[in-house]
Amino acid sequence: MNPMHPSPQSPVTILGIPYDQSSSFLRGAAQAPGVIREAFRSPSSNTCCEAGVDLETEPRLLDAGDLTFEPETDPFEQIEAAVGDLLDNGSRVLTFGGDHAIAYPVLKAYGKRFERLNLLQLDAHPDLYDELDGNYLSHACPFARIMEDRLVARLVQIGIRTLNPHQRMQAERFEVEIIDMRTWDPRTVPALEPPLYLSLDLDVLDPAFAPGVSHHEPGGLSVREVIRIIQGLQVPLVGADLVELNPTRDPTGVTGMVAAKLFKEIAANMLEF
Ligand code: MN
Ligand code: MN
Repeated sequence: MNPMHPSPQSPVTILGIPYDQSSSFLRGAAQAPGVIREAFRSPSSNTCCEAGVDLETEPRLLDAGDLTFEPETDPFEQIEAAVGDLLDNGSRVLTFGGDHAIAYPVLKAYGKRFERLNLLQLDAHPDLYDELDGNYLSHACPFARIMEDRLVARLVQIGIRTLNPHQRMQAERFEVEIIDMRTWDPRTVPALEPPLYLSLDLDVLDPAFAPGVSHHEPGGLSVREVIRIIQGLQVPLVGADLVELNPTRDPTGVTGMVAAKLFKEIAANMLEF
């Protein structure tokens, strides 16, 4: 355990990861980080979380901008190094994806610094494929890699509604706790223990609320249900990612506003407002 690992009182740094090369269906998620920042500052709303604290003037909330990828270097190594540097400097990290593939290198940085991580994934998809179209690093695979590398002690998935036989087998193999949408009830959210990390794929939401994602999967959660899950967490998160916003599918910008709203509530949890 790195003695420098961040405490719940440590600052939170936003890091944009403009990466969508591991998307299996559509590109576009690389454009998301700037769109989320813009929606956060949209004059149509304000920059306060629902607890009534202005995040724009909060000194513990920092923004490292977007990661710039060096063309000759492995992007996953660059993501892991950038997140690791922020953690070693005593910050927690809130990443704006990017497609969900980024969760693997981000959790690599976390897993090397935190013992017995609890990982909460909100997603329509379990993302547990061993490989998809021959790609082991596809955005359909990160949680298989995370479990194989034993980067977390526990993985809980909420919102799942796309299990197929292969992914069901993978979930059993890795002992993933899946709360699927057939039996969804807010009271079924299990108690999670620190250190806790949140990976939030926007397609956990019903496409009626958030159409600006690459994979429209009907039958999902409402925005309020996701906010309740975040506000109901009993411990402050050590880190979080907000992934899969695809601005090319969001002509009215409503999904960008949803992403900014969820960002504010995640930040509020991390800063304990
Ligand atoms: Mn996902
Ligand atoms: Mn998904």
